[in-house]
Amino acid sequence: MTNEKVDYSIVIPVYNEEEVIEHTYERLKTVMQSADGNYELLFINDGSRDKSVDILLQLSEQDKTIKIVDFSRNFGHQIAITAGMDYASGNAIVIIDADLQDPPELILEMIQKWKEGYDVVYAKRTARKGETFFKKQTASAFYRTLRAMTEIDIPIDTGDFRLIDRKVCDQMNNIHEKNRFVRGLVSWVGFKQTAVEYERDERFAGETKYPLKRMLKLSLDGITSFSYKPLKLANYLGAFLSVIGFVYMLIVLYQKLFTTTTVTGWSSIIVIQLFFSGITLMMLGVIGEYIGRIYDEAKNRPLYIVKDIYQHEQASAKPFV
Ligand code: UDP
Ligand code: MG
Repeated sequence: MTNEKVDYSIVIPVYNEEEVIEHTYERLKTVMQSADGNYELLFINDGSRDKSVDILLQLSEQDKTIKIVDFSRNFGHQIAITAGMDYASGNAIVIIDADLQDPPELILEMIQKWKEGYDVVYAKRTARKGETFFKKQTASAFYRTLRAMTEIDIPIDTGDFRLIDRKVCDQMNNIHEKNRFVRGLVSWVGFKQTAVEYERDERFAGETKYPLKRMLKLSLDGITSFSYKPLKLANYLGAFLSVIGFVYMLIVLYQKLFTTTTVTGWSSIIVIQLFFSGITLMMLGVIGEYIGRIYDEAKNRPLYIVKDIYQHEQASAKPFV
């Protein structure tokens, strides 16, 4: 990619968004044309299997602000925005979803704050439209649990829609963690941060690419990368249960030595057995989550593989080699 500097880089992760991508482009275009500087629209195609790339290529024939980084397969949303930050050349970098759930018009407000001297301007959701009760509740519980579990200040109800300054982006690019929770990392690097508020719209078209399984993975990445508390839980639970076990042992011994009560105890043994094996397995699972992530770090594979990069060269967009 050429090193031509721009004022603003807009990073848009795209995964099977053929139904919306053109609208997104148009709205972004309108907004960015009213901004006071030059810009690039950096689309990261995260292994879409539909026509997203073809549509983008077509658009890029008339618009040289479009750049496309095309992944060799689907690597996931967090990795896609990481690649966006790697390739962005702007002085300010904005990360925005492709499905118009994040209103592009808010970018102007973010730029305003950036000019006032803030290095990170994140968009905080005051409401979420068109999402299921279940998604809203789980998301809300997740942000609050995460906040309670970590020492760093991760803002609640805030996704990845944000503006970051070049110097924050450079710091982010130095972090090579594999199972990334980008919004946590942005909080972790620090700098002067502020929020702008907005109501999250419905998806323009298409359906969510974050089914429950991916939401769980993201939550676990968030928690494990910023907290040891789940590991400590094993300690606390163990200590608590030992105390109960010890008290019960005293009762049993008393009954045996000083009373004639016959101990029939089969049910209690089975119940205790099941309960404790459940807890043991669960805690092994917690340890497993951490070990799996250590394993990923140890393998040290690249975060993503780029198949092609398209950007404007003379009259038409061609792969850049
Ligand atoms: N996305 C991506 N790779 C994925 C899943 C999603 O690049 O594996 C993109 C998607 O195209 C969208 C953004 O990430 O631009 C957010 O995804 P989505 O809207 O499905 O998530 P939700 O808003 O439902 O949480
Ligand atoms: Mg969405």
